[in-house]
Amino acid sequence: MIGKDLYDELKDYSKPIILIGSGILLVLFLLSFFVHWRFVSKLLSLVTGTSLLFLVYIAALILFLDKEVDVEEPISYYRHVSEQMPKTRTFKLTIVWGVVLILLGISAIFFSNRYRKQYAFDCSTILVDQSAGIYHLEWIDDCEVAAESDCLEEMKGYEIKGKGYRFCDWCKEYAEYVEVAYYSDRFYRK
Ligand SMILES: [Zn+2]
Repeated sequence: MIGKDLYDELKDYSKPIILIGSGILLVLFLLSFFVHWRFVSKLLSLVTGTSLLFLVYIAALILFLDKEVDVEEPISYYRHVSEQMPKTRTFKLTIVWGVVLILLGISAIFFSNRYRKQYAFDCSTILVDQSAGIYHLEWIDDCEVAAESDCLEEMKGYEIKGKGYRFCDWCKEYAEYVEVAYYSDRFYRK
């Protein structure tokens, strides 16, 4: 649709983007397996999910992998018709391949978005009331529930994974208000 010259030019640009992008993503993903550092989480959030940089990266990847796809299919009845007829015919699967690429790109955006949010929670500091089984946001001083608790312990998100702690209702309401959705407890309950 955009013309062959512009298309080829964009395709040339896609190579360095893929090379640099893949390197950065690989390093960050590997790091996220082994450490829970907040700056890794910040960088990960910057370059994955619905961030503009990741969208450009996925677009470059789709552009790079977008090739003409021809599929040879044997024609089974050629003998009965004529010996001169071609024995195979060519199908163009280019559009199908393009659609597959776009679907893969969308799922990459979706899953990396989930991953970056989960990792952000893992790296965040929370206040845990172990006896009540509730955790609070670290940066809320005026939580009414936390104020009544006398045994709050500072922990990292990943430390309470799988332990069944509940996110404080008061903090949850506040977090939703300021749109910090990743503090919701769906990530560690599984
Ligand atoms: Zn709270």
